[in-house]
Amino acid sequence: MNFLKYLNEQQLEATKHIDGPMLILAGAGTGKTKTITSRLAYLISLGIDPASILTLTFTNKAASEMSLRAMKLVREELEFPISYPPILSTFHKFGLLFLKFHIDELNRKNNFVIIDTDDKKRIIKNLNNSNLQNRYISNEISRLKNSLVTAENSIEIDNKDFETITKVYKKYEEYLIENNLVDFDDLLILPYKILDANDELCKTISTKYQYIMVDEYQDTNDLQYQLLKKLCRTHNNLCVVGDDDQSIYGWRGANINNILDFSKDFKNTKIIKLETNYRSTNQILQAANNLISNNKSRMDKKLTSNKGSGPRIEILETLDEKQEARIIASRISELLKKKTNSKEIAILFRINALSRSVEEALNRERISYKMIGGMRFYERMEVKDIISYLRVITNNQDDYSLKRIINRPKRGIGKASIEKMSLKAYENKKTLYDYIKDNQNELSSLIPKKAFNNIVEFITNLEMIKSNISNVSYDLSELCDDIEDTYEIRKYYALGSDATEKLPNIDEFYALYKDKFKSNPELSIDEFLNEITLLNDQDQIELQSISVMSIHASKGLEFTHLFVIGYEEGFFPLLGEGSDLEEERRLGYVAITRSKEYLTLSTSKSRFYKGRRSDLIKSRFLQESELVKTTSINFEQPNQFKKGDLVKHKVFGIGRVTEVNKMKKEYKLKINFGGNIKDIMSSFLYKV
Ligand code: ATP
Ligand code: MG
Repeated sequence: MNFLKYLNEQQLEATKHIDGPMLILAGAGTGKTKTITSRLAYLISLGIDPASILTLTFTNKAASEMSLRAMKLVREELEFPISYPPILSTFHKFGLLFLKFHIDELNRKNNFVIIDTDDKKRIIKNLNNSNLQNRYISNEISRLKNSLVTAENSIEIDNKDFETITKVYKKYEEYLIENNLVDFDDLLILPYKILDANDELCKTISTKYQYIMVDEYQDTNDLQYQLLKKLCRTHNNLCVVGDDDQSIYGWRGANINNILDFSKDFKNTKIIKLETNYRSTNQILQAANNLISNNKSRMDKKLTSNKGSGPRIEILETLDEKQEARIIASRISELLKKKTNSKEIAILFRINALSRSVEEALNRERISYKMIGGMRFYERMEVKDIISYLRVITNNQDDYSLKRIINRPKRGIGKASIEKMSLKAYENKKTLYDYIKDNQNELSSLIPKKAFNNIVEFITNLEMIKSNISNVSYDLSELCDDIEDTYEIRKYYALGSDATEKLPNIDEFYALYKDKFKSNPELSIDEFLNEITLLNDQDQIELQSISVMSIHASKGLEFTHLFVIGYEEGFFPLLGEGSDLEEERRLGYVAITRSKEYLTLSTSKSRFYKGRRSDLIKSRFLQESELVKTTSINFEQPNQFKKGDLVKHKVFGIGRVTEVNKMKKEYKLKINFGGNIKDIMSSFLYKV
């Protein structure tokens, strides 16, 4: 087979391993992803049924790329046609597929709707009448669910807010079941529960997926591990690929021990190590090796490159974020003028807040960029409205989405009317939709006349659209046009003060919708809706523009020209409550190893952040990577002042510190401004 000759010895050994557990543990850019793609092609070329191979990856985009590549490799070699393409997907998408077939095991119907984080927050907001933050409760619920703790059996006592959380958790779960909704966590939990409760089914499923592969295994959580165990119930043909140094989702429950203990969990594991890095130059790898060797809990690995030394890594030192952004934008502009492919250029940051100055500078230089990891396109209010129309059109049961659009565009239906109708629907054991459709006599006496007329028109139109699309000759790519003609959502948003921001999103959604259905006439609305809900940050990357993204979102990707900004103590590493220096360092390692050749790390003397400007000191990571001399840096906190320091205040000008008093997290300083003594909090000052 031709494609095998492009692999090195260890990659080839891994590719040809067929039965039994295997762990490919190797550093960044050593061809782990390439190896499992080759293995997938190899298994198929041996005549193994593609439908019995399950490959789980981190993003939908990675999944589709791997699938294309594997199928290309196979097609060039095979003498026989392939019955089905192999299943390549994210854990969540696999969960969805599984639930479509098996959620009836939990006495639930398979026309459930998947809710995203924005939906989840809204639901929790309605159920939470405590003073705890909705986001906090949402995260805690997620944590409990992922540890398979139900609202009923939770017995945690070490959390003072626990009673409130369990209460909301319980109501939240009831709400999901009542409305037949499934959240992201459920996509993993429910399949696990089903397989755990029904061993016969578990055996059948496990027999179906004879060969399982997982990329980025270092970022799997306990639940994903348990689910994999179930899927391997009848065999141990599990091949996992990962790098302990790239585990960056600890904060979201990823358990690095899954990879470190793999060979203990699965007897007779074949372990393959890959040491040649094909991505980056030696200088980049040297910096990455130096940095990560400061971590204590890790398996020692050293990477060497086959690409030679390469250009020097540049440390860009600037005065503030504006200068930093300006310089980077003009460099990128130069690169683009020289016809550098924009998909080979990226800017990475540790926290989202740092992207704003960069975005402004890119706009000024008229550089087209894709911001990844900001507010998700599909979660924007105006886009979500259209999605809700689509949801209701395909599913009468979806009261949740119905309530969202029942008065949008405004048709005079107030909260009180909605509550009355919901109550009546509940008493009649009907969904809100069916109640409105079937009980118009009762409804007319229940709510004001104008609201009644409008709601009848609203539902009659929905019925008409539903009946149109059930006609086989209906072209689904026209559906959004029909919705717009009937409900005028775009027109409604055009009247708002933020129309310039919202209309392009609506237009983009309509165009994207049309394009999807034109290019794939087999697609159903359900499939389309689920697909967009399960897209994650990386899936949003477009090729015509440069990428601006968080380090988290950059995992697995590679770029020739890479800029990483914000190398200052407090920003990167991010310090403070809950931060984990070793995980920060792994993020540093992931960031640097995305670069193939030209790497620029930038550090700024000050930044405007959370309403004030702070002086900053260079990140220890620059020193640990051996990119700056060690002597000039000491790790004092930014804004620490001592007696005798010269400081500047916006109003009083320059003065000298005569006394320092610590107050909570801040310092109160006595300052002599040319004989005028003032007491001032340190956050209003910077050192000169
Ligand atoms: P990461 O840890 O970042 O996910 P990885 O180990 O999955 O990296 P890949 O993305 O598979 O690495 O490969 C990195 C680069 O090296 C890719 O451009 C890939 O095509 C190339 N590569 C991998 N193996 C070989 C090889 N044997 N010969 C030539 N190029 C290779
Ligand atoms: Mg990879």
